[in-house]
Amino acid sequence: VRDTAAQDPALFDLIAQEAERQRVGLELIASENFTSAAVREAQGSVLTNKYAEGYPGKRWYGGCEVVDQVERLAIERVKELFGAEWANVQPHSGSSANLAVYNALIEPGDTVLGMDLSHGGHLTHGNPVNFSGLRYRIVGYRVNPDTELLDMEEVRRLAHEHKPKMIIAGASAYSRIIDFAAFREVADEVGAILFADIAHIAGLIAAGLHPGALPHAHVVASTTHKTLRGPRGGIILSNDVELGAKIDRAVFPGYQGGPLEHVIAAKAVAFGEALRPEFRDYCAQIIKNAQALARAFQDRGYRVVSGGTDNHLFVLDIRPQGLNGTKATKRLDANAITISKSTLPYDTEKILHGGGIRLGTPAVTTRGMVEADMETIAGLIDRALGGEDVRAEVHAFAGGFPLP
Ligand code: PLP
Repeated sequence: VRDTAAQDPALFDLIAQEAERQRVGLELIASENFTSAAVREAQGSVLTNKYAEGYPGKRWYGGCEVVDQVERLAIERVKELFGAEWANVQPHSGSSANLAVYNALIEPGDTVLGMDLSHGGHLTHGNPVNFSGLRYRIVGYRVNPDTELLDMEEVRRLAHEHKPKMIIAGASAYSRIIDFAAFREVADEVGAILFADIAHIAGLIAAGLHPGALPHAHVVASTTHKTLRGPRGGIILSNDVELGAKIDRAVFPGYQGGPLEHVIAAKAVAFGEALRPEFRDYCAQIIKNAQALARAFQDRGYRVVSGGTDNHLFVLDIRPQGLNGTKATKRLDANAITISKSTLPYDTEKILHGGGIRLGTPAVTTRGMVEADMETIAGLIDRALGGEDVRAEVHAFAGGFPLP
């Protein structure tokens, strides 16, 4: 480490600054986590030197006998983790995994039914400036205005009205259980492909704490870096091996060249970690912490969208506090508390700002925090949102919990 720091002090000083920011801050971005040293070691390994276009046993380059085994290990582990018959571990990110699914299974101009973005859906589920919104005819389903829960009758009504080629089930900011079996029923009624994007809840599904997307979905995509606690990246899964072969071609040569075998190795390490019994305990604690944190805010008079959470995150409506997402993010950032702004279902704020903030507990749970600590966090956030300076308290509190 000393050698590399001497070679490039400017860059290594920045890495040290980021390490310190992570150590003394409170990380509540629902899509972030702290990877293990083993994941980071695999990702920082010599595997980054290797070109391996193609798939194990079918490469365009020589010298792939070791990386073939690395990739096979990742594939076998992720299949075991999610009970899948087929897996592709090469997508560089969640968005590129989703791109491969669209490219493989539908045509430009086809209709896609996905969750409205301001109700919790992701950019790749139909944002007008994203490839999904540009290339496909997107119809958005919304949550029920009273309960703020997914409304399967509304999904069914829209599916029958618009006859989509593909239905997407999955979200970036939805705190309740997603009923993949009910989505499949609707998909079958209209002859649509069911695509489950489990990026946020993948870890909870792997741990058996959220109903699985397989066998209901025809295809499942995910990131590997959120609740799953691996390196940044994407995966695609299916029980239909023929459909899997189409998706393999859509990834390579469809839109990627050489896979990132160092990242694939790090994914394999994370899948191995997630297969251990301790991972289930970790995910159970994530959910307990999210529920404790949501309750602590409700006790302080805040409104939690849908009234609570069944998973790792929730959205707070901060309009009654006279704030919006942008203002709240700034106030919290100034106090070393990181969150992401969020739109609300039927939001009255501009989309750019959002009327809410999204909070998640995967990262603080990795640091060993439990329910009682959520009470402390809610207190610190409440005071910071009210304009108090709590930065030193946050540093002292967060710094007391070890990072992996
Ligand atoms: N799908 C969902 C539901 C997500 O929440 C995200 C990321 O936030 C993605 C896909 C995309 O992942 P990435 O940022 O790796 O492209």
